[in-house]
Amino acid sequence: MKRLSQYRNIGIMAHVDAGKTTVTERMLYYTGLTHKLGSVDEGNTVMDSDPQEEKRGITISSAAITTYWNDHQINLIDTPGHVDFTAEVERSLRVLDGGVVVFCAKSGVQPQSETVWRQADKYEVPRIVLINKMDRQGANFLHVVQEIREMLQANAVPVQIPVGAEDNFSGVVDLITMQAYVWNSDDGKQFVVTEIPAHLQEAVLQARKNLLEELSLVDEQIFEKYTEDPAAVSAEDLYAALRKATLHRVLIPVLAAAAYRNKGVQPLLDAVVRYLPSPEEMGKLKAESVPAFAENGNESSSTNVEKESVLVENENESSSAKNESHPVSLNDSPLTALAFKIMADDYAGKLTLVRVYTGALHTGDMVWNSRTNKKVRISRLLRIMSDKFEAVDEIGAGDIGAVVGLKEVRTGDTLSDPAHPVSLESIDFPEPMIGYA
Ligand code: GDP
Repeated sequence: MKRLSQYRNIGIMAHVDAGKTTVTERMLYYTGLTHKLGSVDEGNTVMDSDPQEEKRGITISSAAITTYWNDHQINLIDTPGHVDFTAEVERSLRVLDGGVVVFCAKSGVQPQSETVWRQADKYEVPRIVLINKMDRQGANFLHVVQEIREMLQANAVPVQIPVGAEDNFSGVVDLITMQAYVWNSDDGKQFVVTEIPAHLQEAVLQARKNLLEELSLVDEQIFEKYTEDPAAVSAEDLYAALRKATLHRVLIPVLAAAAYRNKGVQPLLDAVVRYLPSPEEMGKLKAESVPAFAENGNESSSTNVEKESVLVENENESSSAKNESHPVSLNDSPLTALAFKIMADDYAGKLTLVRVYTGALHTGDMVWNSRTNKKVRISRLLRIMSDKFEAVDEIGAGDIGAVVGLKEVRTGDTLSDPAHPVSLESIDFPEPMIGYA
């Protein structure tokens, strides 16, 4: 099993048409699981495969898809971009540890992207920004960065500078390694690492100076090194500082891409692993919403099981204080999991997607549903890969997977250890609009 630090539970969020499906598809392609490049325009992408979805003409999507990159497991959780699906968006935001927000390099910040942004703010989702469609006529990277700063009041800071734009968009200069990555073919597979093109030197130096200044404002070590000798700040220092700043949402790293032309997707995957938090980091940050069970902590004895579940308030100060004074590993704690989506699959039947916060779900377990006050049996567990289901015996803390055929479970229900019943939320979400209502 992977360590908690090797998981990334992330959502790709975007205004409809910014390229969320294409970015997701390309990420799956580069992570090696989708062997054939799907195309949105041909309607054969993985995320667009639901016929219900086609009927409505908007991008919602199936699910949460698991993939792997550089020794990390990335669970891509779909966040619907359509404004009518606010409840569904919010539900999925609860289970994310981080987000990639996609903007179009030409259209910039649009009303819907503002809605998505505010929702991510509400759930305190750390995020990075991808400015996509750099190949479009009228694409303007820095203009969109400025719009994000002004219209969304967000501290968006480029970590890359695009090489060219529109038809001439050919690569990105990484402001941390100070190298240019230039794609030399349209399948985006091949790129060369080169010197920074002469005409970009000045803009790159200015952008790096800006990035270092921003980081030195939030990181004392960087500040000291930077004020002594900016050249002494290493890439490792910067990665660590950016990770911390992103986690605490004081800074939002911005990247450039033309996903459709397969440019900028591998650096995006690297950025997901580098800058977005693991469940462990988020667990520490949001101790109040992740009930790590302290010894003598927030538990009720098994004799109380048949009576009532314990409600763990999101803002419960006393429980977070307890968590801090008695830190317990998320893996070793009793089970707490949230059912965040119910799906119907032709092959597997009813699937309940769950995010496990603490402990683990095993096949054969009896778990407590806090809403119905009943025990339910976990008969089969699946991991959803881009092209197949993989049967698993366990879904551990920090991970996401699907339970097959769970009865009487709705989205928003908490599943927990019957000896330690918990309810993660008191929010009543509307019934799902698709699948098993
Ligand atoms: P979504 O609605 O956000 O999921 O967006 P899609 O991925 O469906 O993309 C919307 C349209 O933009 C499709 O026609 C894509 O082919 C196109 N598109 C996506 N990425 C790019 C890109 O990098 N450059 C250009 N020019 N078009 C793109």
